[in-house]
Amino acid sequence: MTEPEDPSRERLKHHFAQRVIHQARQILEIWQRLQRSEWSSTDLSELSEANLRLLRFAERFEQPEHSQLAEGISQSLQAVDANRGRLSSHLITEINRLMQRLSRTGLRHGDQLEQTFLPPLRKPIYVMLQDHDRAERLAKQLEFFGLSALALDSVAAFRTSMVERLPAAIVMDVDFSGPGIGLKLAAEAQEGLEQPLPLLFFSLLETDTPTRLAAVRAGGQEFLTGTLEASSLLEKIEVLTCVAQYEPYKVLIIDDSRAQALHTERLLNSAGIVTRTLIEPIQAMAELADFQPDLIILDMYMPACTGTELAKVIRHNDRYVSVPIIYLSAEDDLDKQLDAMSEGGDDFLTKPIKPRHLITTVRNRAARARNLKARMVRDSLTGLYNHTHILQLLEDCSFRARREGKPLSFAMLDIDHFKRVNDSHGHPMGDRVIKSLALFLKQRLRKTDFIGRYGGEEFAIVMPDTDIDAACKVLDEIRQRFAEIHYPAQPQDLWCTFSAGVVEMSDDSDSLMMASQADEALYRAKHAGRNRVQSARQSKQSATFSSESTDSVINL
Ligand code: GH3
Ligand code: MG
Ligand code: MG
Repeated sequence: MTEPEDPSRERLKHHFAQRVIHQARQILEIWQRLQRSEWSSTDLSELSEANLRLLRFAERFEQPEHSQLAEGISQSLQAVDANRGRLSSHLITEINRLMQRLSRTGLRHGDQLEQTFLPPLRKPIYVMLQDHDRAERLAKQLEFFGLSALALDSVAAFRTSMVERLPAAIVMDVDFSGPGIGLKLAAEAQEGLEQPLPLLFFSLLETDTPTRLAAVRAGGQEFLTGTLEASSLLEKIEVLTCVAQYEPYKVLIIDDSRAQALHTERLLNSAGIVTRTLIEPIQAMAELADFQPDLIILDMYMPACTGTELAKVIRHNDRYVSVPIIYLSAEDDLDKQLDAMSEGGDDFLTKPIKPRHLITTVRNRAARARNLKARMVRDSLTGLYNHTHILQLLEDCSFRARREGKPLSFAMLDIDHFKRVNDSHGHPMGDRVIKSLALFLKQRLRKTDFIGRYGGEEFAIVMPDTDIDAACKVLDEIRQRFAEIHYPAQPQDLWCTFSAGVVEMSDDSDSLMMASQADEALYRAKHAGRNRVQSARQSKQSATFSSESTDSVINL
């Protein structure tokens, strides 16, 4: 009910909700750190303590979703304890599932909690430039992308802010407040921190090698020069600060010796890697299809077939051509090792092997294989899913939505009068606008939505568990905000708009029909004057979420 609440109680709730979110963020940061290291018992107890704090806050301040997740994490960690501190594939998967949910609860945009309890869930980004007005403008643009940013205008203001709150990242002009002073200031700020902060240096003019070297030594991860633009800056910041959508690596171990396989499993599990063992190599193909591993560890000599034979069989299937295969064997004859490698293997490790050697090899190989796979389904300009894959996802999601009886929406977006951008500002500027819209969508949509680049300046979005009204509302907000982004350009700044068509899955529509209905709605949005979101529901009387029908590439 909407009974007016006591305002001071409201404020208190607001305050504590932020503490809940802050605590959730801490847990995710620990989790993220664990992905890069072997897990020790101290790491796990740190995680456990942070989680208990979350549980306490969440219960006290009535955040049921957070309480429930913290409760689940706590139970899983207790199960690790009961397992004599040993992780198992099952527990890794379970904890990871809970972490994924936690990262969506309150971290994602448009989340209930975040809407009720603005402002910042995200730590701010501190921006220090020689030209303070420029810093202010940049901070404002970053806010449009859903980040919180603060432009600081003096050394004192920077120092005070650093004491009050550590930022998510620092953007520092090397010459902030005097030649070379920014560099020193950033170096000083990094000292004494337990973990270095993501640090991006900026210089208005191209600089010499000594300056760049000094920037590297001061801990700078990026060095930007020239026009500092929100979207390209954000792209860098995203890479440096993101809580990655982490999925544990999956490794299939094929070995006829159960004892040997178990040993390998234990080593990998202790590093948070999920494993499955196959004793009968003959079942390999079925197991591959079911488990979809990132990597295969193969024994050389097994009774039914040799490792090299099996590797060839696996490689014959197109789907597994790029899954890395590592031999793990006592074979120490180098010639035989090399033969095995030329038969479809990627690496040869000899037993006994140091745990770190095995873990590092597996992690590196699996990471590279994942990157490769990601590139195959992704568009190279924007990093979004490509045309084929987004349609595949639409189909997958429509099956799931039907099975679970949930709504599903699909949208197509097209930038308005994009040809003019290319014509008047050149193709590179056009590319920049495309990339910036991609990033903007990533920032503003939910983590559960799928975003694809459909073609040139067209995008497609699959929105699970979203009905058409909600989808139109979100897209219309994005439409309005996107139009506020200015791109520094000569002779004048530039901004763009887009049009969108949205459709919801119905009982008799399949994914192809949805795509064509969204396309029709988009066409209608264009005809109705552009810069608007058109729902496919009512076909005649237009249900547009719209705008003034102004010209859509506007030069300031
Ligand atoms: P409308 O509002 O009707 O969508 O007008 P428009 O100019 O955006 O549409 P049109 O389809 O006529 O032109 C799209 C232009 O987008 C043509 C093409 O040169 C440009 N384009 C397509 N892909 C890319 C790309 O990857 N980079 C750049 N810079 N331009 C691209
Ligand atoms: Mg267009
Ligand atoms: Mg087009």
